[in-house]
Amino acid sequence: CGITACIGQDDSVEPLLNGLQKLEYRGYDSAGVAVKNGTNIQLDKKVGEVSELVASIESDPISGNLGIGHTRWATHGGVTDDNAHPHTDESGRVAVVHNGIIGNYQSLKKELESRGHVFASDTDTEVVPHLIEEELNNGANAEEAFRSAVARLSGTYAIAAIVGDDEAIYATRSGSPLCLGIGPGQYFLASDVPAFVQHTDQVVYLHDGDFVVVTPNNYEITDGAGRSVSREVQRVEWNA
Ligand code: GLU
Repeated sequence: CGITACIGQDDSVEPLLNGLQKLEYRGYDSAGVAVKNGTNIQLDKKVGEVSELVASIESDPISGNLGIGHTRWATHGGVTDDNAHPHTDESGRVAVVHNGIIGNYQSLKKELESRGHVFASDTDTEVVPHLIEEELNNGANAEEAFRSAVARLSGTYAIAAIVGDDEAIYATRSGSPLCLGIGPGQYFLASDVPAFVQHTDQVVYLHDGDFVVVTPNNYEITDGAGRSVSREVQRVEWNA
């Protein structure tokens, strides 16, 4: 139900967790984060409050300068640790968070399973990391793989994805909110501005169909066909 993402020079874990706490008002049953550490993706996710996730990460730390976070309000699949986001492919090379509902996940899941993919959750979301993984295995780069995977989806979604051997966050939206925060030395993505307003008041509200690729030093917004899209950077007034 809430997405956070963060990339830059500094560690992302604290901004991701803070951001999730700021999105608690949206309601949720589980929370999780995934960060890129070297070429590994480190992940912690569980049923319960963000404070429990924070405690779990304190006792078994993870770190990385880029990552994604999620508070889940279950729509497909029960409230379990396995169904909490982020979701990964079998190799753990890809991690994905998603708000909304992927309407055609059953046919995609059948198709992926028939090609040997093994699912670890009952969610609609998990088709996304497997679709990305398949494109990567077919030789696509991370951006192409993300775009091709999203092109297969119907339904409502805001999605953010990371790939272990790639220094970027890939995100898109269709029917679920997503905005980009432009901070000094760090970029943020979130379902809503309070998630990052303590770090920056410079915000781009993404539109349905926008794709954004965010690297530690830059961001680019394009449409589904890859054409560059320009969106206004707005200054928000917010009593954080
Ligand atoms: N449909 C997804 C799930 O049930 C995402 C729900 C959400 O927006 O939190 O896991």
